[in-house]
Amino acid sequence: MAKGTVVIDTNRCKGCELCTTVCPQHILVMADFFNARGYRPVQLVDPEGKCTGCTLCAIMCPDVVLTVYRLPVKGGAARAAVAA
Ligand code: SF4
Ligand code: SF4
Repeated sequence: MAKGTVVIDTNRCKGCELCTTVCPQHILVMADFFNARGYRPVQLVDPEGKCTGCTLCAIMCPDVVLTVYRLPVKGGAARAAVAA
């Protein structure tokens, strides 16, 4: 299965939680701290590397907070898929 990761522009997040509802891996969770705008931002908690880079979270986010990187597949062509 493909591997991916998500870079979060924390201070742009308004804490709406929409992205957490669509992640098939359930690895997006709300933080227990506040960002510069006073919202609890989303965090990627993925110690087991479950993110597949599916981009559903980035597509769902209305504020273009999330950038998804798909990691190169072993034995395949290196490629990066980015959604913003
Ligand atoms: S890219 Fe897919 S698997 Fe990874 S955090 Fe976003 S929704 Fe979840
Ligand atoms: S959908 Fe966007 S704004 Fe809403 S919690 Fe997720 S990253 Fe933050």
